[in-house]
Amino acid sequence: MYYPRIEVDLSKIKHNTEVLVSLCKKYGIDVAGVTKSFCGHPDIARAIVEGGVKYLADSRIENLIKLKDIEIPKILLRLPMISEAEEVVEYADISLNSELETIKALSKASVAKGIIHNIILMFDLGDLREGYFKEEDLFNDIEKIIELEGIKIIGIGTNLTCYGGVIPREENLGRLVDLANKIREKYNLELEIVSGGNSSSLHLLIDNKKVDGINLLRLGESIILGGETAFGNRIENTYNDAFQLVVEIIEIKEKPSVPIGEIGRDAFGKVPTFVDKGIRKRIICAIGKQDIEFDSIIPVDEGISVLGGSSDHLILDGTDSINNYRVGDKVRFKLTYGGILRAMTSEYVKKQII
Ligand SMILES: *Cc1c(COP(=O)(O)O)cnc(C)c1O
Repeated sequence: MYYPRIEVDLSKIKHNTEVLVSLCKKYGIDVAGVTKSFCGHPDIARAIVEGGVKYLADSRIENLIKLKDIEIPKILLRLPMISEAEEVVEYADISLNSELETIKALSKASVAKGIIHNIILMFDLGDLREGYFKEEDLFNDIEKIIELEGIKIIGIGTNLTCYGGVIPREENLGRLVDLANKIREKYNLELEIVSGGNSSSLHLLIDNKKVDGINLLRLGESIILGGETAFGNRIENTYNDAFQLVVEIIEIKEKPSVPIGEIGRDAFGKVPTFVDKGIRKRIICAIGKQDIEFDSIIPVDEGISVLGGSSDHLILDGTDSINNYRVGDKVRFKLTYGGILRAMTSEYVKKQII
């Protein structure tokens, strides 16, 4: 067995997916399972497919390529780069778009392949990340996109609570639905998908506030961690520990809590500060900032606290633990979203599917 490793419990992931798919189904909403936090690992993606999602979705085309053998429609979430247009139409059935030049490149690539590429046009309701901001610009582009070969507009969508922290509400999502209806009328388009955001939109369903007309959510964090992300509340009957980090102890010593000598900068150029708690049992583990942010790991042993560390070392305070740790023992952590993302991305952290 190699350490550090991240353990992924597929039965918990599948269970979380089932809970969310059935919640959404009650409101006539389909789910796209978002795979980017775990770099599109195919085994984990399969558990999500078994949980009942209608699509898989990822920000990066490299991850969708890893999923090419899973028979389910795939959505590229990040606006495509013009330079990757050929891969996009090859490996994504649907992409999210907001730039005419990019859509023209996708058109050219799909005509060359003799296929139709489906697009969802993104509209920005105020979070200020991607999407058309003025309805007029959207309408002008739609008129041109309709003329393009190899491209079909199948829906509109929005993204909230990502950059600006804007909460999805009946008001802002209602505006998206109104916009969809306007487009349907004006251009005689079916527009089968109206995608009302990510895990931050779930609080509406949990509070029984249906937004008529929204029929797709793109869910990542809620599936992997069992929480809604507008207010950070847990979702009933889900797991938050499907991903666990396991690291090995390489040193345990009683040492003071304040360094001795003149304090300069640490390994990352910051001047550190310390609270004097006297002599403490300090535990060093073999993982570091190259693999993980220290504020993204939550010790399963509540008697342990995270002191900090450097690129390759994690320092814990084990004084208050009831466990008598020894060198070579393993310490377990639950992870935040950022923690899962970083650990899954680090080539030094082994991935163990259980
Ligand atoms: C990452 C992402 C999602 C998923 O967000 P979660 O908060 O993890 O549910 C949905 N849509 C887009 C466009 C994204 O980039």
